[in-house]
Amino acid sequence: MTLDCCSVLRQPVQYVLGFAIAALMGCAGAVAQQSTSGDSPAVDFDQYFDKGALRFELYQTGDAKNCTISLHEMFAEPYWAENKNHLITPFPYGKTRAMFYDVESGQLICVRQFDSMFSEYMTTGPARDGVSRVFEITVRCPMPRKPVKLVLENRNSAYEFIPVFERIVDPNDLHIRRESADLKDGIVEVQVTGDPQQRVDIVYLSEGYTAAEEGDFREDVHRISDFMFTQRPFEEYKDRFNVRGVFRASPESGTDEPAQRRYRSTNLNATFNTFDLDRYLLVEDNHAMHRMAAQVPYDTIIVLVNSKRYGGGGIGLDYCAGTSDHQHSALTLLHEFGHSFAYLADEYIGNVVYNDMYPEGIEPVEPNITRETNRDRIKWKHLLTPDVDLPTSLLDAAEAKKQQVVGAFEGGGYVSKGIYRPEQDCWMGKLDQDEGYCAVCTDAVRRMILMHAPDAR
Ligand SMILES: [Zn+2]
Repeated sequence: MTLDCCSVLRQPVQYVLGFAIAALMGCAGAVAQQSTSGDSPAVDFDQYFDKGALRFELYQTGDAKNCTISLHEMFAEPYWAENKNHLITPFPYGKTRAMFYDVESGQLICVRQFDSMFSEYMTTGPARDGVSRVFEITVRCPMPRKPVKLVLENRNSAYEFIPVFERIVDPNDLHIRRESADLKDGIVEVQVTGDPQQRVDIVYLSEGYTAAEEGDFREDVHRISDFMFTQRPFEEYKDRFNVRGVFRASPESGTDEPAQRRYRSTNLNATFNTFDLDRYLLVEDNHAMHRMAAQVPYDTIIVLVNSKRYGGGGIGLDYCAGTSDHQHSALTLLHEFGHSFAYLADEYIGNVVYNDMYPEGIEPVEPNITRETNRDRIKWKHLLTPDVDLPTSLLDAAEAKKQQVVGAFEGGGYVSKGIYRPEQDCWMGKLDQDEGYCAVCTDAVRRMILMHAPDAR
C-alpha cells in the first residue's frame, strides 16, 4: 500500500474485532480462541518457548489464482521483542497467517498474520493474466523448545484462510543456521526506554546511504522519529517505544528509479515503480531486510531510503519504506507506518494498480474502512459522532476541519462507491500537516501500541 500523491497534495477509513474474527474462525477451530477485545488467548510462553527467535525465509510464487510457498532457510536470532502475552494475535489483520502448533500436544501456540508483496501482486493485471512471479517473505516466532508444525495459510477471494504450506521443524535441526546475527553494522540508539517485550520496538534501517552519509542517516532518523512523537497517538505513549537504527553503507547513494532508467547499487534493493506505480517504493530483498533488522530487538521495521523524491510503501504488519529528504517525508512515513504497524487501509480513491483489493460483498478486515452503514454494526460505532447521519454527507472543507465529524463517508479503499471511511479527512487519505490520523485510525494505532506495551513499566 502506498500513498496517492495527487490526493495527498490536492485534497484527500477501525472496527469491532468481532466481525472479522468470526470470518477468521471459519477455517480453524484452533483459532476460535481469538478474542474480540484486543486480548490474546493465553499460551504459557515459557512452557513452549526459549530465548531468541526462529526466522523462516520463504518464497511465495504464483499469480492471481495460484500460490505456492517454499522454504529457503531457517535462522536462529538473538531477540524476540514481542509481548509474551500475545503469542496469538488478537487482531484479524493480514492476508497470510503463520500458525505454529506444538507437535506433541497439537496445541496452537503462536499465530502471526501479515501481508506480503505477493498478496498485493495477486490483485494486479499481470497476475490476473496468469504471469507467475516470486517474492520473498519472512516469518518469525519465538525459538520453540520442542518440535513445532508451521502451517502457512493465504486468504482466498472469499477471505477465508486456505493452507498452502506445512512443515515440522525441530529446534535442534542442524539446518537452522545458528551463526551470529551481528553483521557489524552501526547501531544507532535513538531512545531506549525499557524491556523490549514491554515496548514497541521500532528499527530504522538505512538504505542508499554511502559510508560518507552515515551522519545524514543518523540525523534523518532523529528528525523523523522526533516528528512522530509530536503526533497523536505517539506523543502520549512516547515512553513505551524503543527506537533504534541500523546503519550499513550502501555502495552507491540513492535508490532505483526504473521509470527514469536510474539504478543504484544498494543493500536492500529498494525501488520506486513497484508494480509499475511510479511513487511506490518497496524493498524487494525482504530476507536481507530481516537479516539486517535481527541485529537489534524489533517489532516493526522502517526502511529509510536516502532520496529527495516523494514516495513510500507499507506492507501490513511487516515493514514500511519512505524517502528521507522530500518535504513530506515525515508525513509520508507516518502514513506508511499506519499500514505496516496498525494495518490501516488507504482512505483515498483510485490511482493504484490493484483490482478489487477489497472483494465485493466482504467486509474489509482493516480497522478504518467498512461496507457497513448500520449504526449498530459499524466497526467504529463507539467513536461515531452522536446523531450523525449514516452514510455521512461531505462537509465543506473549513467546516470539516472545525467539526471533526466521525461518521461513514463514502469513498475509501481505492473505490468511490460502497466503501466508507470514518472522517472526511485523515492522513490515510491525504497528507496535511494539520490533519493527523482520524479518530478511528488513531484508536487503531493506540490499540496496537497497547498490545505491544500494555503499561508504562
Ligand atoms: Zn483514518
